[in-house]
Amino acid sequence: MVKNTSLFKSDFSSDSNAAATTSYPKSSKPSKILFTPGPLMVSERVKRAMGKDIGSRHSEFEYLLTFIRKSLVRLAGGNVQTHTAIPMTGSGTFAIESTLTTALAGSKGKVLVMSNGMYGERIASLCKQHGMAAETVRMHAEALEQRLQQSDDVIAVVSVHCETTTGVVNPVFDFGKIIKNHNKGCLFIVDAISSFGGVPYDVTNIDYVIGSSCKCLQGIPGISFVIANASEIEKKIGQNKVLTLDLAGQYSELERTGQFRFTPPTHLLLAFKEALLELEDEGGLEKRIKRFQENASVLKQGMNKLGFKPQVLSQDNSQRHIVTSFQYPENPRFVYGDFIDRLDRRGFQLPAERTNIKGCFRVGTIGNIKPEDVKMLVDGIEDVCGEMDIKTPLY
Ligand SMILES: *Cc1c(COP(=O)(O)O)cnc(C)c1O
Repeated sequence: MVKNTSLFKSDFSSDSNAAATTSYPKSSKPSKILFTPGPLMVSERVKRAMGKDIGSRHSEFEYLLTFIRKSLVRLAGGNVQTHTAIPMTGSGTFAIESTLTTALAGSKGKVLVMSNGMYGERIASLCKQHGMAAETVRMHAEALEQRLQQSDDVIAVVSVHCETTTGVVNPVFDFGKIIKNHNKGCLFIVDAISSFGGVPYDVTNIDYVIGSSCKCLQGIPGISFVIANASEIEKKIGQNKVLTLDLAGQYSELERTGQFRFTPPTHLLLAFKEALLELEDEGGLEKRIKRFQENASVLKQGMNKLGFKPQVLSQDNSQRHIVTSFQYPENPRFVYGDFIDRLDRRGFQLPAERTNIKGCFRVGTIGNIKPEDVKMLVDGIEDVCGEMDIKTPLY
């Protein structure tokens, strides 16, 4: 006999977190500041834009999709005559898989994956999972040029733009020139998920740029998008063997009917449009980049004062203003898990420990955060070091 008629609530009653979750909506202030590489801080304005129901067959919704698609092409430095933006439901990886399986459907030949970290490795393993002949190449213009000259069987090159595990921003525009000078028909696909909206863009030599709503564009997670060379995507209609991943299918439906193929995430798209308007109100890409640069510079200066050293990277790799990675202090009392728990209690969230790069931690400086927030984080780090009996400056 069931005494408790509550469906779910009773499961939460003894959970101490439940109280916090239930009381959360009463406060309009977010309880934590995220210094992560995504999802990240979203403004109240963008969150409020979701508070409305909208039918997908309504003209307001079709206008919204057109607005988003045009804005994305413009942000990519592209032209709506030659390029097209295709929004998809799903996280960034979804759009990567969708792009690779669509762009390379039915093609035989080598796929070069430029890699200098976990996101590059993920692309290489994704290619292999789909039976593509993927080959990893060192993330360097010369290495790419040499490899292209070695054989004629390369059909595509894929590169991560900002390798989010280290914060290194790779010279993809140089790679684009090299690839197209070598062979116009060789596709160039860029994972710009953590950089799009955070660096100036130029799609001239790129066939597919992959981005996400929730990183530098400060939207709600759940939408990814691809800015594609229109004549390339046209050729791919009807070729992907996987229905839900078919980027060309989504493209042709959007072109033909102004609609998503399947139920669109209407609330997320409302928020995404608001995030694009917010970007414009901030003063455009230039001003946004400036804010991210200021965030990163406050972080680097503050951490330098405390004696934290940046991660050692090879010479041709440079971290910019998206994510900065620091070495753990050489102190046995420094335990990263404890460090971030203490910061969390002060209202600052840093990414969880990485297993792939030992002895370093990352701080993201993108999202709806200002230099003042970063200053507060640095002060928090100083206090937490004191609590952990770690003397600063460290060296
Ligand atoms: C965030 C990110 C992705 C996508 O990750 P999801 O978890 O699928 O959103 C892919 N590549 C890079 C470089 C990223 O920063």
